[in-house]
Amino acid sequence: MLRKLLGKVESGRFGRGLAGLQAGWQWEVKYRFFVARGVVLRGFVKYEGKIFAISISPKSYSCSCQDYVVRGIRCKHIAFVAMVELAYEAAERSAHRQVQEVRSL
Ligand SMILES: [Zn+2]
Repeated sequence: MLRKLLGKVESGRFGRGLAGLQAGWQWEVKYRFFVARGVVLRGFVKYEGKIFAISISPKSYSCSCQDYVVRGIRCKHIAFVAMVELAYEAAERSAHRQVQEVRSL
């Protein structure tokens, strides 16, 4: 599901999300809940004093940035969160651990 979402991100925004990973953007996850068709995520992307609220589920996604709010586009923040979550799930799988759910909202 996250791979599919990531695959639909336009390449420039994909690149900026990847650059954010390298630059140490933070993903503060407030809610992570696994469902049959993927994962439901809510949280905040933080960097350079900026903060964006992100919501991703198998059926929808949103971000509080101008790119999403004004243009309705899969933005670099959504790309970034999908990358971080894919990395997290891969690391947990390789360590043979159960992926942890966070439910705080
Ligand atoms: Zn955004």
